[in-house]
Amino acid sequence: MVAVPLNAEHIPITRLAPSPTGALHLGNARTFLANWALARQHGWRIVLRIEDLDTPRIKPGVMALTVDLLRWLGIDWDVGPLVQSETPEPHWAAMRALARAGIVYPSDLTRTQIEAAASAPQEGSHEVVFPASLRPPVVPREFDDTHACWRLIVPPGEVRVEDAFAGTRVFDVSRVIGDFVVWTRRTPDRPGQPAYQLAVVVDDDRQGVTEVVRGDDLLDSAARQMLVRRGLAITREPRYTHLPLVLGPDGRRLAKRHGDTRLDTFRAGGTRAERVIGLVAHWCGMLDKPAEISASEFLAGFDLRKMSREPIVLTAESLTWLSRRT
Ligand code: GLU
Repeated sequence: MVAVPLNAEHIPITRLAPSPTGALHLGNARTFLANWALARQHGWRIVLRIEDLDTPRIKPGVMALTVDLLRWLGIDWDVGPLVQSETPEPHWAAMRALARAGIVYPSDLTRTQIEAAASAPQEGSHEVVFPASLRPPVVPREFDDTHACWRLIVPPGEVRVEDAFAGTRVFDVSRVIGDFVVWTRRTPDRPGQPAYQLAVVVDDDRQGVTEVVRGDDLLDSAARQMLVRRGLAITREPRYTHLPLVLGPDGRRLAKRHGDTRLDTFRAGGTRAERVIGLVAHWCGMLDKPAEISASEFLAGFDLRKMSREPIVLTAESLTWLSRRT
């Protein structure tokens, strides 16, 4: 049987790609509402893809809750939910192709061994740069999932990411990250799995995704994903739109320390979806201050040009707004 590409009609396609590692929070609400509004304004098709490959962090029941919360916000989609772990074969095929091309290799070095060989991490980076000196002398041409994680050989040089919102960004992946993991090691109870950087490229391609809208914490991942795409000889590049993150009042990434910002918790406490949407509309530059609005009002008023390039800060007033009942 010949597989028909999902995007045979050349309709732009975007994807909502939540990871069911925790319930959606206010930052996810911003990203998904913006992505949905752009899609519905421009006639893009929307794929809902559940990214459940990060097995140790996947929480039971969160998948259904995630879908339910998207619906609660008034977001709809045309395809899915497609669950990433349910179609492993394309990820395995991609690894076989990368191995045939001689640009991936198994590596069972520990973090300590890598740290010992690496230069000091770049300022602000938590990642240890994986140095080229740790590559094995011979790279196998066949992929096997027996004993180790697999890394992609990162060529020296800069990778340009053209972003519809963030502009042009240049990353030197070899200097800042080095050879990165594309396949995670098997464990006694499950086979190895594609790492996020591989799975996202394979699935975006096979699902015909042409538009990627997400938080700008993933801008540097876009560079890694370009390298994976090159390795797989995928010529189609999605158009990227990376949006500023929602930060806590201390200017750090929204996390548990900022209290419970999960949509589920607000909903259980009686907050109406319109209040969440109104706060997101304020964050997106549509309203001077939060007001209750519906998803369709959000859709009608959303305009990327009004969105600030600065990170959004979740303030105490935002939280008061969400908890007020009148
Ligand atoms: N699943 C990822 C997340 O929830 C998003 C990945 C992507 O949009 O490429 O952070």
